[in-house]
Amino acid sequence: MDFNDSPEEREFRKKARAFLEQHLEPLGADESPSGLGEREDAAAIQRAKDWQATKFDHGWAVLTWPKEYGGQEMGRLEASVFAQEEARFKTPPPIYGIGHGMLGPTIMTHGTQEQKDRFVKEMARGQVVWCQLFSEPAAGSDLAALRTSAVRDGDEWVINGQKIWSTGAHFCDWGMIVTRTDPDVPKHDGLTYFIVDMNDPGVECRPIKQINGGSHFNEVFFSDVRVPDSQRLGGVGEGWKVAITTLMNERVSIGAGGGGGRTKDLFRLARDCRRNGRPAIEDAAVRARLADIFITGKGLQYTGYRIQSALARGGTPGPEGSISKAIGAPHSQQVASFAMELQGAMGAVSQHGIALQDGLWQESYLGSPGLRIAGGTDEVLKNIIAERVLGLPSEHRADKGIPFRDVPTGS
Ligand SMILES: Cc1cc2nc3c(=O)[nH]c(=O)nc-3n(C[C@H](O)[C@H](O)[C@H](O)COP(=O)(O)OP(=O)(O)OC[C@H]3O[C@@H](n4cnc5c(N)ncnc54)[C@H](O)[C@@H]3O)c2cc1C
Repeated sequence: MDFNDSPEEREFRKKARAFLEQHLEPLGADESPSGLGEREDAAAIQRAKDWQATKFDHGWAVLTWPKEYGGQEMGRLEASVFAQEEARFKTPPPIYGIGHGMLGPTIMTHGTQEQKDRFVKEMARGQVVWCQLFSEPAAGSDLAALRTSAVRDGDEWVINGQKIWSTGAHFCDWGMIVTRTDPDVPKHDGLTYFIVDMNDPGVECRPIKQINGGSHFNEVFFSDVRVPDSQRLGGVGEGWKVAITTLMNERVSIGAGGGGGRTKDLFRLARDCRRNGRPAIEDAAVRARLADIFITGKGLQYTGYRIQSALARGGTPGPEGSISKAIGAPHSQQVASFAMELQGAMGAVSQHGIALQDGLWQESYLGSPGLRIAGGTDEVLKNIIAERVLGLPSEHRADKGIPFRDVPTGS
């Protein structure tokens, strides 16, 4: 298979680069792409919104979406060529992954025409930002065990409960929430999905302090939040089906990246750091580690291409989606850990402007463990591979077929 650009893709890449050069500064050799760390800074969020509006106005936003919702109806391959080119420039922090990658496609699949017209185009232009309100303190891997309730009151629903790990909720305008509307049926059957206004006075966001000093995600509390029935996405009791659409899109967004993208930076680091008075890259043990990392990185890159090709043909990725995440997340952590080892005492310095490669590896070292949890933990992915790919017997599920209210909780 030929993975080089076709003549059309080459032409498209040239056009994309010309647009980007007109509006952005290229990244310097020692600069890393915009850090997720900037997501608490209101000025950086505004820069992200301005950049999204510029892309939208020039026809470079949400490239794969239908034209009526602000997209360009392009293929996945073109979108990934644009993303590759954009990554060479200094961009504001990425704040649209959840909205554009997961929630927009969910509204386009399950929304009424009125909901699509009201929310999707606005989402594409990015002046309002969206978050995903799924996980709860006792419902993460086992999402269908969630307890936040929505009770019908005429044409409205009243939401009470708590969500957690909600990325970006502190700067978002809208959220998509899964709630329990019927505790008397088995857990997957009693859920309903809503669009909720994050500026409602009954919504309280409490940022969670992370190991890297940032606070990108939140606990979110809902106290008597009233949501009109017109903001229900999908049928009453059909929230699980809608949530699966969001989760499928999440796994594709994570997996299609291919992982291993930092190998070039790691090789540069190995040239710049010293071991036994010589560049570390000349040390046999370092070279052996680099070779292993390179090989895994290539495997991930080509697995990413398999996902892209499946999507470009209009299919859905098979096992490669789970494999990419199951191998890619631990790989990112191992690479970051080796990069810290190479830096020796300098590994403890993370300050921009002083740290090697602008602190890229310090951020990655502290952030990469989270990649092994978000979007499906290592163990859950292994369960998926065991059951759906290898056909091994499925796990024992003690709550199967039991009304949610009667599931033993140990309390
Ligand atoms: C960076 C980051 C961003 C996130 N952003 C969001 C967001 O925007 N919105 C949102 O709703 N959520 C978000 N999450 C939450 C994420 O979806 C959950 O953390 C994830 O689903 C795991 O759930 P949990 O944390 O409750 O862990 P648990 O499910 O309680 O798991 C605890 C441990 O038990 C293991 N385990 C659980 N079940 C099994 C099983 N059946 N077999 C074997 N082992 C098992 C897990 O692998 C894990 O090691 C985010 C998480 C992270 C790390």
